[in-house]
Amino acid sequence: MHRIGRWYFGAQQFGETQWLTEFRYRFLMVLLGVSVVASTAYLLLGLTLAGAAGAQAAAPDHIRSMRIFAMASTLLWIALRERPQLLVAVAWGYEIVGLMAHASALVYLPSDELRILWIFTNLPIAYLLLGRVAGGLLTALTVLGLLALNPSLAAPYSEPALATAMVSLVFLSVFLHASVGQMLGLFVRLRTLTLRDPLTGALHTRAYHTLAARQIGASRRSGQPFALLAIDLDRFKVVNQTWGHEAGDEVLKAVATCVHAGVREGDIVGRIGGEEFAVFLPETHLAGAVALAERLRHAIEVLAPRLGEQDLPITASIGVAIQSDHAQARDDAASLRSLEREAGIALADAKSEGRNRVAVFGVGGLRSESLPEVLPSGPGRPIPAG
Ligand code: GH3
Ligand code: MG
Ligand code: MG
Repeated sequence: MHRIGRWYFGAQQFGETQWLTEFRYRFLMVLLGVSVVASTAYLLLGLTLAGAAGAQAAAPDHIRSMRIFAMASTLLWIALRERPQLLVAVAWGYEIVGLMAHASALVYLPSDELRILWIFTNLPIAYLLLGRVAGGLLTALTVLGLLALNPSLAAPYSEPALATAMVSLVFLSVFLHASVGQMLGLFVRLRTLTLRDPLTGALHTRAYHTLAARQIGASRRSGQPFALLAIDLDRFKVVNQTWGHEAGDEVLKAVATCVHAGVREGDIVGRIGGEEFAVFLPETHLAGAVALAERLRHAIEVLAPRLGEQDLPITASIGVAIQSDHAQARDDAASLRSLEREAGIALADAKSEGRNRVAVFGVGGLRSESLPEVLPSGPGRPIPAG
């Protein structure tokens, strides 16, 4: 099932902040598939019935537009697969062939009194995929098109029926106009809440683990090195005891902001304990990881968050671990666990060697001036455990 989904939707992955794009992408992909299957079934069934009756298909022009719709939907699916950047163009393409199919039903299927319902099913799709301006535009277009087309239909709608259709179309459009943006915004916020800790903005432990393990998989496939930093604030209990829990919270917030500002776009920051953060660093070799850890340690040291008249002296210890061997790794979650264990050991070294320092798993505590000696010159060379 997983493999079928991968084939159908493509293997590309969306970032954590691209939730809306991912939703729209998958929604449109499903819609295109359903359109292909439904219109193909319609064509086969229509042709079979016509064949059984020994006659031509009842409405050859409609059959022709359904063929165009089925083919266009297939082509749009192929175009969109693995290319989320084409989302808006493909959605517009789908809207245009959809409108064509609806107009074709209006004109060529006079015996179907309910064919106008297709127009109603289309509106929420337009609002969800393209937003309020496009939704409003399409509403106006369909209302005007319907008014213009109705008198020339083989079976025109009566005036009361047309009025009902117009009013309920506008009503639906106003409803969608007022609610779609809010609903999507709410979903995005809910999604963020489930992923991120509100105090620090860092990922919750679970979300962090999921994203970091996924990134390990990607790094492994591309053969890139990766590293992990475990950051723990020094003597934080004392901070709480001396200045109060609220001040402690402010410190945590300031440190998290500092860490977020210090890492790269693709790095993954998680709050994995009360005052402990983990930073997963993709495409990073040992030297890069140690340099970043040292930068962060220094940034936290000079941060000195203000509490009233006082600057709080805050420091942190950082443990560094790098991926030891791609070949040895079992699954991604297990790799992450062993990396965490190693970073934790390094962190304990940093603590026991006096705090406010960076330690590397297998090397121990480092002072800034000794860094060049212990770092291998080549990128990504693993340090043997010891
Ligand atoms: P060490 O240098 O050995 O790390 O000393 P420490 O005092 O920081 O020890 P430890 O890491 O075990 O203590 C963590 C403390 O962080 C315990 C708890 O009171 C505090 N803490 C955990 N979560 C929060 C939080 O959300 N807000 C505040 N203000 N304090 C927290
Ligand atoms: Mg601590
Ligand atoms: Mg701790």
